[in-house]
Amino acid sequence: MLVGAPLQDVAADEAALPAGNPFATPSTLPYRLPPFDRIGNDDYAPAFAAGMAQQRAEMAAIAGNPAPATFDNTLVAMERSGRLLDRVGLVFFNLASSDTNPAIQKLEEQLAPQLAAHRDAILLDPKLFARVDALYRQRDKLGLNAEQVRLIERQHISFVRAGARLAPERKNRLRKLNARIAGLETQYEQRLLAASNAGALVVDDRAQLAGMDAGAIAAAAEAAKARGLSGKYVIALQNTSGQPALTDLTRRDLRQRLLAASLRRGWQAGATDERGLITRIARLRAERARLLGYPSHAAYALEDATARTPAAVNAMLAQLAPPAVANARREAADLQRAIDAEGGGFKLAAADWAHYAEKVRTQRYAFDESQMRPYFEMRHVLEDGVFYAATRLYGITFKRRTDLPVYHPDVQVYEVFDAAGSPLGLFMADYYARPSKRGGAWMNNYVDQSHLLGTRPVVVNNLNVPKPPAGQPTLLSFDEVNTAFHEFGHALHGLFSDVTYPLLSGTNVPRDFVEYPSQVNEMWATWPEVLAHYARHYQTGAPMPQALVDKVLAAQKFNQGYATTEYLAAALLDQAWHQIGPAQVPQAAQAEAFEHAALQRAGVAFDPVPPRYRSTYFAHIFGGGYAAGYYSYIWSEVLDADSVDWFRRHGGLRRENGDAFRNKLLSKGGSVDAMTLFRDFYGAAPDIKPLLERRGLGAASDT
Ligand SMILES: [Zn+2]
Repeated sequence: MLVGAPLQDVAADEAALPAGNPFATPSTLPYRLPPFDRIGNDDYAPAFAAGMAQQRAEMAAIAGNPAPATFDNTLVAMERSGRLLDRVGLVFFNLASSDTNPAIQKLEEQLAPQLAAHRDAILLDPKLFARVDALYRQRDKLGLNAEQVRLIERQHISFVRAGARLAPERKNRLRKLNARIAGLETQYEQRLLAASNAGALVVDDRAQLAGMDAGAIAAAAEAAKARGLSGKYVIALQNTSGQPALTDLTRRDLRQRLLAASLRRGWQAGATDERGLITRIARLRAERARLLGYPSHAAYALEDATARTPAAVNAMLAQLAPPAVANARREAADLQRAIDAEGGGFKLAAADWAHYAEKVRTQRYAFDESQMRPYFEMRHVLEDGVFYAATRLYGITFKRRTDLPVYHPDVQVYEVFDAAGSPLGLFMADYYARPSKRGGAWMNNYVDQSHLLGTRPVVVNNLNVPKPPAGQPTLLSFDEVNTAFHEFGHALHGLFSDVTYPLLSGTNVPRDFVEYPSQVNEMWATWPEVLAHYARHYQTGAPMPQALVDKVLAAQKFNQGYATTEYLAAALLDQAWHQIGPAQVPQAAQAEAFEHAALQRAGVAFDPVPPRYRSTYFAHIFGGGYAAGYYSYIWSEVLDADSVDWFRRHGGLRRENGDAFRNKLLSKGGSVDAMTLFRDFYGAAPDIKPLLERRGLGAASDT
């Protein structure tokens, strides 16, 4: 039911967790790695029920404590609460993303409203808030250290933003909205996975795949086999509008079929229709924002980000959109010339972009993507590239562990050691795509670092690399290499966390800040010493020829008009859905017209460049996490470009530089205000110029 779960039911289950349940006690494995080999589908529901009951009881004890509120008996006690719920929740939601199944999906849908209600039961408890509020008011007079004061401030903001100050009847309305939104977001995610799987392109005949390399064709045959379609070929859909195969496919009709399948995801009536869900989610979020006293969900969400207001976000996007689209139009003209030169006789369309961009790139820089792949074998990229850069910068080392249980045979586990050889944490690499994994790439924690709880971090990176048939090497595209470095930047943020309180640990920072360290880490993918170390031919071991390296580097600004425009279009769509009041949210049948009008209005409606995500498959914003926050990537890129500049000015890949970044910024997690951390590291306020230059949007590049 999509209403607040009756909390008495949860309490009744309190004593129901059998001792044999793998979540009943903390894991005894190294780093408290979850005992994946002992976890079954039936273990989650009782552990969640008991975990919620346990935390409710703990919070009730804190709220009902007759002694006056102190930092220890309130804030610290809250931080210590909910251990069981944490253990089961981290495993469950990680696996719901990376290796789901029908049982997990069903439970996920049941749990979403229950967990929203659980959170509300804590954050809307007037007695608990009174204690937090009392401490907040005297926080400077309690003799606390900076992290402790920060904990009070962050916890206080969580309560206020969750509605702790609302009148009781408004709190009731809020509880219902939260539960309904959580349920709908889960339905949206599950339907999207179904839509993406259903949209995969089935090709009967190998000849149609002309242009694809042998490895990709083998992967497509393998994917078909996995779906019971032996003898055929399946091109699975990636999350984004653009699909990697569009680069290679020479048959225009097949490119058009593939792009259409991608762009149509979730728009068609039937079991995978997302239109009703996205409009309901947008409307309910807008209603909730009104209830909390904000004109829109964006106003509410941005207040707690470094951007602060929709106006600030709009100003930045408006500054970037016109030059980006102008760039894309210039690039389109180049592509049209390439089409005309080969007597194509058609007008450039979105399905042609990647294919002809690749041709122009090949002509202009005299190399194509497929020449690079043999130098990007997956394991080499990870161990001799991603890890190597981290060793050079931070002195950390990695040891593969094959003795620990994993949730899927494709997962690789590494133990990470600090420079002095002391243990730091565990890193799990889950790089392959599979139908049970949602699209995209992401980092997450299985265990959060905290001195209070005595825990070291266990982090995972998920990618979606197509798995080659057994015995074949996994050769990455340059994009995938970059993604591996990006996600490892998040992993470092988690691994280097050195804080006391779990609420402030690792990547618990504003979401328009969290992408910044990961983007900085991308710079090492093409750093000459790093590239030379990992880019070796998978058969001969020969380094990538310098001429090819030079071309790769020269080509980095290529196609930036397209990349920036497709990104900005998605970011603007996100704002369009979330900067409106409930009455302005369209009905499901008008969702497509709404999307179109939003792109037109923002000046980014340019048919050959569809938004990176269309509304129906925009999981960042409708699955939760990044609602009104997709702008974060380019917002953080300002800080990223400045920091890349800083590293360059200070000699690049050096221990001193890595240590400065780690000590001043990465290790602090959310224990210090985000922009203060940036200024401590960078030594100045952010400057937008390096970003404009990188994206080819500056005045200088307009010539
Ligand atoms: Zn990221």
